[in-house]
Amino acid sequence: MANKVILVTGGSGLVGKAIQEIVKTEKKADETWIFASSKDADLSNLDETKALFEKHHPTHVIHLAAMVGGLFHNMSHNLDFLRKNIHINDNVLQTSFETGVVKVVSCLSTCIFPDKTSYPIDETMIHNGPPHPSNFGYSYAKRLIDIQNKGYHEQHGCCYTSVVPCNVFGPHDNFKVESSHVLPALIRRMHETIQKDDSSNAVFSVYGSGKPLRQFIYSLDLAKLFLWVLREYNSVEPIILSVDEADEVSISDAANLIAKAFEFKGQLNYDTSKADGQYKKTASNGKLRSFLPDFKFTPFSLAIQDTVKWFKENHNTARL
Ligand code: NDP
Repeated sequence: MANKVILVTGGSGLVGKAIQEIVKTEKKADETWIFASSKDADLSNLDETKALFEKHHPTHVIHLAAMVGGLFHNMSHNLDFLRKNIHINDNVLQTSFETGVVKVVSCLSTCIFPDKTSYPIDETMIHNGPPHPSNFGYSYAKRLIDIQNKGYHEQHGCCYTSVVPCNVFGPHDNFKVESSHVLPALIRRMHETIQKDDSSNAVFSVYGSGKPLRQFIYSLDLAKLFLWVLREYNSVEPIILSVDEADEVSISDAANLIAKAFEFKGQLNYDTSKADGQYKKTASNGKLRSFLPDFKFTPFSLAIQDTVKWFKENHNTARL
């Protein structure tokens, strides 16, 4: 069989680095993997996108590149999230089509689902109503990937599909104050709090009530699932890649585990003047489980410990 050249866009990000790690041990002999960052090509620019594809001639694409951010960044930049991601996605998908890429796996997110919905959410509900207003730009751009995949399938018979991860965390996350997601934001601020005061008098402020519920997937678990989707999942319909519903935790649970991993001696308090975002967005991984009933997710507390350890050891080079 001909060699597969797999181009991973967004290959330098949280998920891309995790796929790099898993590929080290799970690469097959007929596979060549290319991990591209924005330094290799700005994928919101069509000419740079075409040049990247001409350089590597991918047969398969895992499309991760996106403008990504946490609640507060989304709330203040909805238009930028919409336009940037529409451009990136259209350039990658259309260039894939024009250059004969056999399979594209793109990335949606559980946070793009309708705000008013029943739970658990599943793959059939993506387009059933407006997303939460806080991230409408990101959400509509992501939803359009699914529409576009169906278009390429209907008009040209392409196997371009998408996965829907829940919240991802792990080594190489984005720890920037202005754009990080909840777990890396908590990890960074906890680290800084302890640097200032390592005593039992220290107070750590969690933004919001701590009550919202979330499913978090460890980036290395998600990476293993991406490899499975690339190799085995042959439907255009999206598939949710999430931990089980029973693994949903509150922000307060997560903050307590992070405090424990840091051996924080002080007190946590909850700043309810800050926004909570959606109360919950519980997703069903029933479709994934129908294919992989025995897949073992890393326990959340262990994955948090590993991520905190990575952050402490790589503090100087982490994305801060
Ligand atoms: P990161 O922010 O960690 O990484 C983003 C990646 O995209 C980086 O490699 C970045 O390159 C690249 N990128 C951004 N803009 C451009 C551009 N204009 N041209 C080329 N490359 C670009 O993201 P994640 O790894 O967290 O996310 C990966 C995918 O997973 C995204 O599609 C995201 O929407 C999705 N997702 C993420 C979740 C999460 O909780 N993190 C949850 C659900 C879905 P560089 O390093 O050079 O900046």
